[in-house]
This record gives sequence, C-alpha cells and structure tokens, in this order.
Amino acid sequence: MPQNVFHDDALFARASLPHIRAISAYQPGKPITELAREFGLAVESIVKLASNENPLGMSPKAKAAIRAAVDGGERYPDPFDLTAALAARHGVATNQIVLGNGSNDVLDLVARAFLYRGRSAIAAQYAFAMYPIATLSAGGETIIAPAKDYGHDLAAMRAAMRADTHVIWIANPNNPTGAFLAAEALRAFLADAPEHVIVVLDEAYADYLDAGERYDAVRWIDDFPHLVVCRTFSKIYGMAGLRIGYGIAAAPVAELMNRVRQPFNCNSLALAGAIAALEDHDFLARSYASNRAGMAYIREGLEALGLRYIPARGNFIAFRAAEEGGTAAAIHQGLLRQGVIVRPLASYQMPEWLRVTIGAPAENTRFLEALGRAMQESGA
Ligand SMILES: *Cc1c(COP(=O)(O)O)cnc(C)c1O
Repeated sequence: MPQNVFHDDALFARASLPHIRAISAYQPGKPITELAREFGLAVESIVKLASNENPLGMSPKAKAAIRAAVDGGERYPDPFDLTAALAARHGVATNQIVLGNGSNDVLDLVARAFLYRGRSAIAAQYAFAMYPIATLSAGGETIIAPAKDYGHDLAAMRAAMRADTHVIWIANPNNPTGAFLAAEALRAFLADAPEHVIVVLDEAYADYLDAGERYDAVRWIDDFPHLVVCRTFSKIYGMAGLRIGYGIAAAPVAELMNRVRQPFNCNSLALAGAIAALEDHDFLARSYASNRAGMAYIREGLEALGLRYIPARGNFIAFRAAEEGGTAAAIHQGLLRQGVIVRPLASYQMPEWLRVTIGAPAENTRFLEALGRAMQESGA
C-alpha cells in the first residue's frame, strides 16, 4: 500500500463502496514468468497446467489470420464478420449475439444489465469464482446454493430463489470441479424459473463433452427467452490470451447487454483470429482427441497414486491431495518447486483439492512424476 494516500482507514472507507470492498479478487493461475522469477527456474522448463489453456496452442489458421490483421491495427475494430459467423454457426439472428472481451466480459454485461442494489443472483457452492465478483460489481447480492456432489444442485438453487432474484449463474460443465448437468435437468429448471429471472448457462467447456452428452441450449432460447448461453474462444480454441467470447440470447436481452458493452470491447486481432478458428475443424478435432487421451492418462495416474478425484468433463480434473480437513498447500508447493504449476482450490473452500489442466502427453507425464515426488517429500 502506498503511504500517506488516505490518512486513515475511515477516509478510505468513506471514499470506497461497501460492495466493492466485499469482493475477493479473482486468483488467476500463476503465470510461468512469475514462477520462473520466484524459483529461479528457466521459463522453458516450466509446465503450466493451471488455467485450462489448450496445450496444442492455437489453430494455425487463426494465427495466420491474426498476423494478417496486424495491418489495419490503426483502425477501430469492426465486429460485423465475427457476429455474422457466430449467428450462422448457431442458427440465430445477428442481434442475438453479444461479443465479449473473453466470456468473463459477457458475464459482467449480464450483471450490469440485470443486477443492481436490492437485487440478488444465485450461484452454486464450488461454482466459477467470477459469478460472485460480477454480481457484487453491479451492486447485487450473491446467494450461494449448496452443492451436490461438487456440482450444481438445481433443486437447491430453485429453493434459494427470492423475490429479488434476477440472475442465476450455471456453469456446465462447472469449473473448477468438472461436474456436469444433463440437458433434461437444465430444461426442467428453465421451465420452472420465472421468466423475469435471467438464467446464464456458461458453456466454456461444452466443446469437450462426449457426443452422447452434448445438447444445443441455443435451441431453447425460443422457449425460454430469459436464457443467456455463454461460449468462449479461450479453451478448446486456444485463444485465452486474445480475450474473446460471446453470449447468445433472445434479441431484447442481447440488446440490453449490448447497451452497456463498450463499443470496441473486442480487438481486431481477436476478431480476425476467432473467425478463422471457427472454421479450423481439424484443429478442434485434434484438441478434443488430445484432451480425451490426456484425461484418461491422468485419471489412471491419479488412481495409481491412490488419489481421489472428481469425475470431470472439460479439460481439467480436481483431485484431493490431502486428508479431509487438511490442506494441499505442501503438495502444491512441492509441485511448484519442480516447475509444475497447478491450481490450488483453497479460494473455492476446497483446501484439500488441487485442479490440474490436461496437458500435452509429455506435460501430463511430468505432472504425474512431480506429483508422486511431492507426495513422497510431504510424507503423504
Ligand atoms: C475459462 C472459463 C470461462 C472463460 O473465460 P474467458 O473470459 O472467456 O477467458 C468462462 N467460464 C468458465 C466457467 C471458465 O472456466
């Protein structure tokens, strides 16, 4: 904290807003460069499996499109082409698409368009940390509904609904636990939720689902105009650093969200890359297959180490690295010392658990070896 800015805490309290002070800042996965500085490790020697990024990188077609878009960087971006491509892809009108600077931006737009002081939003225990942050930022109150098997308990969420509830946040699959809700349960929930309550279905990991589990929630918007479906280019598309995602909603809902959206919230490189990425089916198929194989390999490895994990959809898996009531901090540190970054879940009130992103084959092997060593060192 800088000295002598606010002369006492009371003045700072008076300057700031109580609902902003109540926010616990989002804790991102540790960047590779930060670990390199802290432990004096070479950047190339570090394996980062902490932020659910795509180990295959980005589509080569997206990269080429981004390089080409550098010329033209002096102009404000035109989101027309990506909006049209997404509308065509999902079979909706262009006025149903809301582009975001990452899908976190879309969550924020929902909060700003539909929440306010005196309104509440419901999120599930162990659900994505951005939901309470977006809710509080807009002045709303977050109601946390208890989880079932580390996933959303839709009955508990329905029961938690109050007269002032205006938004319901649902991640499917959920991050960080990987829990999944089947389409029928979601549809029944939507049918039961009052129409003035916006239901956000955050599908950041939908592209990793098995064919048998996939569903097309966008088709439900006609029946349920209070549904907002969120997608991102950060995960299977491998464009986390470019920051681009989107929401799909009924036109009047999308229109309100677009009113509070900054006009140029998506930059021209991300827009160009996303259009090309959408068409690179080969890259998506390779990413999917690599994730599937890596998930099976890591599950086997965790089982061989005698560790419990939550059966996960997505490109990550949460495993218990400490006894009930203990903390995974020692194992986490042991992994960091060996240059392997995973995600501790203490901030999700799951202190015994760590979450690892499915990496490339060599990264997965490195992770399991380092985990075995960290467990030995900690006497586990
Ligand atoms: C990663 C993730 C996102 C996507 O975030 P971006 O802002 O698009 O990078 C959204 N929701 C969940 C649950 C996630 O895990």
